[in-house]
Amino acid sequence: MRKSILCNNEMPTCYFCGTGNQLERHHCLYGIYREKADKYGLWVYLCHFHHRGQFGVHSHKGRKRSLELQSLAQIKFEEKYGHEKFISEFKRNFLGVN
Ligand SMILES: [Zn+2]
Ligand SMILES: [Zn+2]
Repeated sequence: MRKSILCNNEMPTCYFCGTGNQLERHHCLYGIYREKADKYGLWVYLCHFHHRGQFGVHSHKGRKRSLELQSLAQIKFEEKYGHEKFISEFKRNFLGVN
């Protein structure tokens, strides 16, 4: 597991609510892009509620939050490697998409 470029690796807290309890790692880009997200450190800590829970980012009700994390991942990635590389690696543009 690569270090995240999106969060504090030393003091893990849920990205959305800040709790330090029941943390799980969430790859902001998942499915077929999970491995690449891992390689580039595009993951955050989420509590169980915000990750796998009923309103978590993997559920329909958490779709907006999931998109927020995808956009964040793209922004941070592009700060390091640029826009072209993001598109060539992940084949999508999450910025300005709602
Ligand atoms: Zn949370
Ligand atoms: Zn996840």
